Amino acid sequence: MKEILVVEDNPTNLKLASVMLKAAGYAIRGAIDAEQAAAAIADRLPDLILMDLGLPGKDGYEFTRELRGRAETRSIPILAVTSFAMKGDRLKAMDAGCTAYLTKPINRQALLDQVEALLPRSVEVGSSR
Ligand code: MN
Repeated sequence: MKEILVVEDNPTNLKLASVMLKAAGYAIRGAIDAEQAAAAIADRLPDLILMDLGLPGKDGYEFTRELRGRAETRSIPILAVTSFAMKGDRLKAMDAGCTAYLTKPINRQALLDQVEALLPRSVEVGSSR
């Protein structure tokens, strides 16, 4: 099962994204800030990171740059999520090293489409999913 690390400081959004992704057959770990996420990543590398860009302390842009600067996390797909609807945000996210970009409020189908595109699931023989 592919594992997604959901980095989101808002508990409601964290739960919502986690429920949507779990229901789609992904294993989920959650982190409420960059520090917690870094610890989770050090423990085990996720297959994809869903990254809220607006985080307290180290924000998602800075954290993404940091992950891109390290060999072991350089190639993990990072799907940025932001409520900032300002022009140029997408560019800023991609410039920081994010792989793709989603705008809040999260649309379930858009989220699953993006995740699926970044993380093709291998066919599991005998799996009910
Ligand atoms: Mn946030």
